Amino acid sequence: MTYDLIIIGAGPAGMTAAIYAARYKLKVLVIGKIPGGYMGEAHEVCNFPTYEKATGMELVQKMVNQVKNLGVEIKTEEVLDVKKGKEFIVSAGKNEYSAKKILIATGSKRRSLGVEREKELTGKGLHYCATCDAGFYKDKIVGVAGGGDAALTAALLLSKFAKKVYLIYRRDKFINAEPTWVDEVKKVKNIEPLFNSEITELIGKDKLERVRLTPKGVPSVEEDVNTEGNEVVVDGLFVEIGSIPGSVIAEKLGVKMKDNYIMVSKNQETNAGGVFAAGDVTDNPLKQIVTACGEGAIAGYSVYKELMREKK
Ligand SMILES: Cc1cc2nc3c(=O)[nH]c(=O)nc-3n(C[C@H](O)[C@H](O)[C@H](O)COP(=O)(O)OP(=O)(O)OC[C@H]3O[C@@H](n4cnc5c(N)ncnc54)[C@H](O)[C@@H]3O)c2cc1C
Repeated sequence: MTYDLIIIGAGPAGMTAAIYAARYKLKVLVIGKIPGGYMGEAHEVCNFPTYEKATGMELVQKMVNQVKNLGVEIKTEEVLDVKKGKEFIVSAGKNEYSAKKILIATGSKRRSLGVEREKELTGKGLHYCATCDAGFYKDKIVGVAGGGDAALTAALLLSKFAKKVYLIYRRDKFINAEPTWVDEVKKVKNIEPLFNSEITELIGKDKLERVRLTPKGVPSVEEDVNTEGNEVVVDGLFVEIGSIPGSVIAEKLGVKMKDNYIMVSKNQETNAGGVFAAGDVTDNPLKQIVTACGEGAIAGYSVYKELMREKK
């Protein structure tokens, strides 16, 4: 059987595309390694309309049910290759599937610090998305790891909630950030850069309580430093050191990219005929559940329109 559309990725972008395409009566298959994608990792989502508060897993469950109730098959497999001939041939493990159109919704992977206990403390004081979780740190002390635009804008946002923000960076100045953000950070009194500092240890019993830094990174406020001098007391730490988009398949299909993110038109088309993309894997400026859903919806609709045009 040839599907009208194969969606690679079962996160919010892929799931929403499936809902729209199925409601346009297309034959759709979703193939995703992890159902729900990154959304499942969000311990508390407070910025998805209609939900003041929900766990990421609750949203995953509801999206999966909605997609399945529309008769769409979801296969928990990894796509290893896609070849384009008359149709697209998608290889996932030992299986091969064919489709008229492809949607790449493979998301991106946030870079991690590479220190011990990172996984265990994620959601317990350790975060990877200031836009998502800054609101939990009203009047608290937080650290932001990184020194690029993502880290500086995260620090600026956090400074509106937290009483103190340590911007922990391994270099001696912000050479990789836009000068405007550097100027803005300098103006904000509760942001303190800790240069020449690398995080070497995450410390805390059931949640993050302190971070150990390379010796030079010591804050100016004495009570935030423990007796050993290079452990900084924090209620939370935001890791903002970039992300790696899942664009390997796109590369194989000759899709145009910018900094490894897929470039798309406003209809979510790529430059490669029949290949669409949506969500965190694209060069969109806001990587969130709601924007991934929005792009997925447009992609589902665009595929439908293109198939209708081709039928005429
Ligand atoms: C800890 C955390 C908390 C967050 N909190 C929030 C929040 O509160 N609010 C908010 O709006 N956003 C939040 N986000 C961001 C949000 O989760 C992402 O922006 C969103 O999930 C992106 O959706 P997506 O569908 O583009 O990609 P993803 O959710 O990353 O999904 C990608 C999908 O592609 C699959 N995949 C990748 N490669 C392959 C392959 N080769 N073959 C098959 N499948 C593949 C994955 O398994 C997954 O199913 C958070 C992110 C994290 C990490």
